[in-house]
Amino acid sequence: MIDKCPICDTDRLPEETFPLPGYAIFTCGSCRTRFVRPLVDNGEVYNNNFINTKKPYLDTVSLNKKAYKELSPYFNVMGKRILDIGCGTGSFLNSVKEQNDVLGIEISESYSAYLTANSIPHMIGNLEDSLKKIPDGYFDLITLWDVLEHLPDPYKVTGMVKNKLSPSGLLIIWTNNYDDCISFFAETVYKISFGKMNSLLMASFNRRGGHNYNFVAGSLEDLYRRNELEIVKSLVTDTASGKLTNSLPFRVILELFYTANKLLGKGKIICHVLKKMNPDSCSAPAEPEEKNSI
Ligand SMILES: [Zn+2]
Repeated sequence: MIDKCPICDTDRLPEETFPLPGYAIFTCGSCRTRFVRPLVDNGEVYNNNFINTKKPYLDTVSLNKKAYKELSPYFNVMGKRILDIGCGTGSFLNSVKEQNDVLGIEISESYSAYLTANSIPHMIGNLEDSLKKIPDGYFDLITLWDVLEHLPDPYKVTGMVKNKLSPSGLLIIWTNNYDDCISFFAETVYKISFGKMNSLLMASFNRRGGHNYNFVAGSLEDLYRRNELEIVKSLVTDTASGKLTNSLPFRVILELFYTANKLLGKGKIICHVLKKMNPDSCSAPAEPEEKNSI
Protein backbone atom coordinates (compact mmCIF):
# COMPACT_ATOMS: atom_id res chain seq x y z
CA MET A 1 0.00 0.00 0.00
CA ILE A 2 1.36 3.45 -0.97
CA ASP A 3 0.33 5.99 1.65
CA LYS A 4 1.02 9.18 -0.31
CA CYS A 5 2.19 10.59 -3.61
CA PRO A 6 5.98 11.15 -3.60
CA ILE A 7 5.63 14.20 -5.83
CA CYS A 8 2.65 16.29 -4.65
CA ASP A 9 2.21 14.83 -1.12
CA THR A 10 -1.56 14.66 -1.50
CA ASP A 11 -3.61 12.65 0.97
CA ARG A 12 -5.38 10.92 -1.92
CA LEU A 13 -4.02 7.40 -2.11
CA PRO A 14 -2.28 6.67 -5.42
CA GLU A 15 -4.03 3.90 -7.35
CA GLU A 16 -2.37 0.74 -8.58
CA THR A 17 -3.04 1.36 -12.26
CA PHE A 18 -1.03 -1.26 -14.12
CA PRO A 19 -0.03 -4.48 -12.29
CA LEU A 20 2.92 -6.00 -14.19
CA PRO A 21 5.24 -8.97 -13.69
CA GLY A 22 7.51 -8.11 -10.75
CA TYR A 23 6.24 -4.58 -10.18
CA ALA A 24 3.24 -2.25 -10.51
CA ILE A 25 2.72 1.24 -11.89
CA PHE A 26 0.77 3.56 -9.58
CA THR A 27 -0.91 6.83 -10.54
CA CYS A 28 -1.50 9.80 -8.27
CA GLY A 29 -5.14 10.87 -8.56
CA SER A 30 -4.17 14.45 -7.83
CA CYS A 31 -1.01 15.36 -9.81
CA ARG A 32 -1.19 12.33 -12.20
CA THR A 33 2.44 11.29 -11.62
CA ARG A 34 3.01 7.63 -12.47
CA PHE A 35 5.59 5.70 -10.46
CA VAL A 36 6.62 2.11 -9.84
CA ARG A 37 6.80 -0.01 -6.73
CA PRO A 38 9.17 -1.51 -5.96
CA LEU A 39 11.57 1.19 -7.08
CA VAL A 40 14.39 0.09 -9.35
CA ASP A 41 17.96 0.66 -8.16
CA ASN A 42 19.79 2.57 -10.89
CA GLY A 43 23.14 1.61 -9.38
CA GLU A 44 22.29 -1.92 -10.46
CA VAL A 45 20.78 -0.96 -13.83
CA TYR A 46 23.85 0.97 -14.90
CA ASN A 47 26.23 -1.90 -14.60
CA ASN A 48 28.93 -2.59 -17.17
CA ASN A 49 26.77 -4.79 -19.32
CA PHE A 50 24.02 -2.19 -19.66
CA ILE A 51 26.52 0.51 -20.52
CA ASN A 52 28.18 -1.60 -23.17
CA THR A 53 24.89 -2.36 -24.89
CA LYS A 54 23.70 1.25 -24.69
CA LYS A 55 26.95 3.06 -25.41
CA PRO A 56 25.94 4.39 -28.86
CA TYR A 57 22.92 6.02 -27.19
CA LEU A 58 24.81 7.27 -24.17
CA ASP A 59 27.51 8.81 -26.36
CA THR A 60 25.11 11.34 -27.80
CA VAL A 61 22.81 14.01 -26.46
CA SER A 62 19.31 13.00 -27.50
CA LEU A 63 18.15 16.43 -28.70
CA ASN A 64 16.45 16.64 -32.06
CA LYS A 65 17.04 19.71 -34.27
CA LYS A 66 14.02 21.62 -32.96
CA ALA A 67 14.91 20.97 -29.33
CA TYR A 68 18.53 21.93 -29.95
CA LYS A 69 17.47 25.19 -31.60
CA GLU A 70 15.16 26.10 -28.72
CA LEU A 71 17.39 25.01 -25.86
CA SER A 72 20.90 25.77 -27.07
CA PRO A 73 20.69 29.51 -26.23
CA TYR A 74 20.48 28.42 -22.58
CA PHE A 75 23.55 26.18 -22.64
CA ASN A 76 25.73 27.68 -25.41
CA VAL A 77 27.27 30.06 -22.87
CA MET A 78 30.74 31.24 -21.92
CA GLY A 79 32.52 31.66 -18.61
CA LYS A 80 29.80 29.89 -16.60
CA ARG A 81 29.83 27.12 -14.02
CA ILE A 82 27.90 24.17 -15.42
CA LEU A 83 26.91 20.99 -13.60
CA ASP A 84 25.49 18.01 -15.51
CA ILE A 85 23.79 15.46 -13.26
CA GLY A 86 23.78 11.93 -14.67
CA CYS A 87 26.48 13.00 -17.10
CA GLY A 88 27.04 9.50 -18.52
CA THR A 89 29.99 9.43 -20.89
CA GLY A 90 30.13 13.23 -20.83
CA SER A 91 28.53 13.87 -24.21
CA PHE A 92 26.83 17.09 -23.07
CA LEU A 93 29.72 18.45 -21.02
CA ASN A 94 32.10 17.74 -23.90
CA SER A 95 30.16 20.26 -25.97
CA VAL A 96 30.45 23.07 -23.39
CA LYS A 97 33.67 22.35 -21.49
CA GLU A 98 36.01 24.53 -23.57
CA GLN A 99 34.17 27.77 -22.77
CA ASN A 100 33.02 27.00 -19.22
CA ASP A 101 33.90 25.44 -15.86
CA VAL A 102 32.15 22.07 -15.87
CA LEU A 103 31.45 19.25 -13.45
CA GLY A 104 29.68 15.95 -13.99
CA ILE A 105 27.94 13.77 -11.41
CA GLU A 106 27.42 10.15 -12.32
CA ILE A 107 26.10 7.14 -10.42
CA SER A 108 28.10 4.54 -12.32
CA GLU A 109 31.78 3.89 -11.77
CA SER A 110 31.83 2.41 -15.25
CA TYR A 111 31.68 5.88 -16.81
CA SER A 112 34.72 7.19 -14.99
CA ALA A 113 37.20 6.05 -17.65
CA TYR A 114 35.23 7.81 -20.44
CA LEU A 115 35.03 11.01 -18.40
CA THR A 116 38.70 10.94 -17.50
CA ALA A 117 39.65 10.30 -21.14
CA ASN A 118 37.59 13.36 -22.11
CA SER A 119 39.19 15.49 -19.33
CA ILE A 120 35.82 16.11 -17.68
CA PRO A 121 35.95 16.73 -13.91
CA HIS A 122 33.44 14.41 -12.28
CA MET A 123 32.13 12.86 -9.09
CA ILE A 124 31.06 9.22 -9.13
CA GLY A 125 28.53 7.76 -6.71
CA ASN A 126 25.25 8.45 -4.96
CA LEU A 127 23.73 11.70 -6.23
CA GLU A 128 22.59 13.06 -2.87
CA ASP A 129 26.03 12.43 -1.31
CA SER A 130 27.74 14.16 -4.25
CA LEU A 131 25.43 17.19 -4.05
CA LYS A 132 26.18 17.61 -0.34
CA LYS A 133 29.85 18.18 -1.23
CA ILE A 134 29.02 21.15 -3.51
CA PRO A 135 28.63 24.64 -2.01
CA ASP A 136 25.17 26.20 -2.23
CA GLY A 137 24.59 28.89 -4.86
CA TYR A 138 27.58 27.73 -6.93
CA PHE A 139 26.37 26.81 -10.42
CA ASP A 140 25.04 29.08 -13.17
CA LEU A 141 23.50 26.16 -15.04
CA ILE A 142 22.52 22.68 -13.88
CA THR A 143 21.20 20.11 -16.34
CA LEU A 144 19.31 16.85 -15.83
CA TRP A 145 19.01 15.18 -19.23
CA ASP A 146 16.95 11.96 -18.89
CA VAL A 147 17.60 11.82 -15.13
CA LEU A 148 14.56 12.94 -13.11
CA GLU A 149 12.55 9.81 -14.00
CA HIS A 150 15.35 7.58 -12.68
CA LEU A 151 15.55 9.06 -9.19
CA PRO A 152 14.07 7.41 -6.09
CA ASP A 153 12.94 10.81 -4.74
CA PRO A 154 12.70 13.50 -7.48
CA TYR A 155 11.10 16.00 -5.07
CA LYS A 156 13.96 15.87 -2.56
CA VAL A 157 16.70 15.93 -5.21
CA THR A 158 15.10 18.83 -7.12
CA GLY A 159 15.17 20.84 -3.88
CA MET A 160 18.82 19.98 -3.29
CA VAL A 161 19.68 20.88 -6.88
CA LYS A 162 17.89 24.23 -6.61
CA ASN A 163 20.07 25.13 -3.64
CA LYS A 164 23.18 24.70 -5.79
CA LEU A 165 22.00 27.32 -8.31
CA SER A 166 23.43 30.83 -8.24
CA PRO A 167 20.81 33.59 -7.74
CA SER A 168 20.32 33.95 -11.51
CA GLY A 169 21.12 30.28 -12.23
CA LEU A 170 19.07 28.13 -14.57
CA LEU A 171 18.05 24.51 -14.32
CA ILE A 172 17.21 22.38 -17.38
CA ILE A 173 15.08 19.29 -16.78
CA TRP A 174 14.47 16.92 -19.72
CA THR A 175 12.29 13.99 -18.70
CA ASN A 176 9.62 11.52 -19.78
CA ASN A 177 6.05 12.60 -20.43
CA TYR A 178 3.34 9.95 -20.67
CA ASP A 179 0.71 12.31 -22.12
CA ASP A 180 1.62 11.27 -25.67
CA CYS A 181 0.54 8.90 -28.45
CA ILE A 182 3.08 6.16 -27.70
CA SER A 183 2.07 5.88 -24.04
CA PHE A 184 -1.63 6.13 -24.94
CA PHE A 185 -1.31 3.29 -27.46
CA ALA A 186 0.70 1.11 -25.04
CA GLU A 187 -1.80 1.67 -22.23
CA THR A 188 -4.77 1.01 -24.51
CA VAL A 189 -3.29 -2.31 -25.64
CA TYR A 190 -2.76 -3.23 -21.98
CA LYS A 191 -6.33 -2.33 -21.05
CA ILE A 192 -8.17 -4.04 -23.92
CA SER A 193 -6.14 -7.23 -23.37
CA PHE A 194 -6.89 -7.11 -19.62
CA GLY A 195 -3.19 -6.79 -18.87
CA LYS A 196 -2.10 -9.80 -20.93
CA MET A 197 -0.38 -7.76 -23.66
CA ASN A 198 1.89 -5.77 -21.39
CA SER A 199 5.20 -5.64 -23.25
CA LEU A 200 4.49 -2.33 -25.01
CA LEU A 201 3.56 -0.67 -21.75
CA MET A 202 6.65 -2.07 -20.06
CA ALA A 203 8.83 -0.77 -22.90
CA SER A 204 7.08 2.61 -22.88
CA PHE A 205 7.47 3.10 -19.12
CA ASN A 206 10.98 1.60 -19.29
CA ARG A 207 11.56 0.46 -15.72
CA ARG A 208 14.12 -1.95 -17.18
CA GLY A 209 16.14 1.08 -18.26
CA GLY A 210 15.90 2.48 -14.72
CA HIS A 211 12.75 4.60 -14.88
CA ASN A 212 10.92 4.97 -11.57
CA TYR A 213 8.62 7.78 -12.73
CA ASN A 214 6.69 9.04 -15.75
CA PHE A 215 5.33 12.57 -15.54
CA VAL A 216 2.89 14.90 -17.26
CA ALA A 217 3.13 18.69 -17.38
CA GLY A 218 0.83 19.11 -14.37
CA SER A 219 2.79 16.76 -12.12
CA LEU A 220 6.03 18.58 -12.90
CA GLU A 221 4.38 21.92 -12.14
CA ASP A 222 3.49 20.58 -8.67
CA LEU A 223 7.06 19.40 -8.19
CA TYR A 224 8.46 22.81 -9.16
CA ARG A 225 5.96 24.82 -7.11
CA ARG A 226 6.74 22.81 -3.96
CA ASN A 227 10.44 23.49 -4.58
CA GLU A 228 9.91 27.21 -5.35
CA LEU A 229 11.05 26.92 -8.94
CA GLU A 230 9.55 28.87 -11.82
CA ILE A 231 9.31 27.81 -15.47
CA VAL A 232 11.22 30.06 -17.89
CA LYS A 233 10.65 27.91 -20.97
CA SER A 234 8.62 24.80 -21.70
CA LEU A 235 9.09 22.37 -24.59
CA VAL A 236 7.27 19.15 -25.52
CA THR A 237 9.15 17.00 -28.01
CA ASP A 238 10.50 13.54 -28.79
CA THR A 239 13.92 11.93 -28.56
CA ALA A 240 15.54 11.74 -32.00
CA SER A 241 14.64 8.24 -33.26
CA GLY A 242 18.15 7.58 -34.54
CA LYS A 243 19.39 7.93 -30.97
CA LEU A 244 17.03 5.24 -29.71
CA THR A 245 17.53 2.45 -32.23
CA ASN A 246 19.55 1.33 -35.23
CA SER A 247 16.65 -0.81 -36.48
CA LEU A 248 15.06 0.75 -39.57
CA PRO A 249 11.58 -0.79 -39.06
CA PHE A 250 11.56 0.36 -35.43
CA ARG A 251 12.63 3.84 -36.48
CA VAL A 252 9.82 4.02 -39.05
CA ILE A 253 7.26 3.04 -36.39
CA LEU A 254 8.70 5.60 -33.97
CA GLU A 255 8.55 8.31 -36.62
CA LEU A 256 4.87 7.51 -37.28
CA PHE A 257 4.11 7.98 -33.59
CA TYR A 258 6.23 11.14 -33.56
CA THR A 259 4.20 12.51 -36.49
CA ALA A 260 0.98 11.80 -34.58
CA ASN A 261 2.50 13.49 -31.53
CA LYS A 262 3.40 16.57 -33.58
CA LEU A 263 -0.08 16.82 -35.11
CA LEU A 264 -1.63 16.72 -31.64
CA GLY A 265 0.96 18.98 -30.02
CA LYS A 266 2.24 16.12 -27.87
CA GLY A 267 5.57 14.40 -27.25
CA LYS A 268 7.15 11.71 -25.09
CA ILE A 269 9.65 14.21 -23.73
CA ILE A 270 8.90 17.28 -21.70
CA CYS A 271 11.63 19.81 -21.07
CA HIS A 272 11.64 22.83 -18.79
CA VAL A 273 14.12 25.60 -18.23
CA LEU A 274 13.64 26.81 -14.66
CA LYS A 275 14.84 29.52 -12.32
CA LYS A 276 14.44 30.07 -8.61
CA MET A 277 11.37 31.96 -7.45
CA ASN A 278 12.16 35.21 -5.62
CA PRO A 279 15.95 35.11 -6.01
CA ASP A 280 17.62 36.38 -2.86
CA SER A 281 19.62 39.04 -4.65
CA CYS A 282 19.09 41.57 -7.42
CA SER A 283 19.74 39.11 -10.22
CA ALA A 284 19.47 39.69 -13.90
CA PRO A 285 16.38 38.25 -15.58
CA ALA A 286 16.82 34.70 -16.80
CA GLU A 287 17.51 35.51 -20.41
CA PRO A 288 19.55 33.13 -22.53
CA GLU A 289 23.13 34.18 -23.14
CA GLU A 290 24.42 35.18 -26.52
CA LYS A 291 24.63 32.07 -28.66
CA ASN A 292 28.08 30.75 -29.42
CA SER A 293 29.01 27.83 -31.59
CA ILE A 294 30.08 24.64 -29.84
ZN1 LIG B 1 0.68 13.45 -6.76
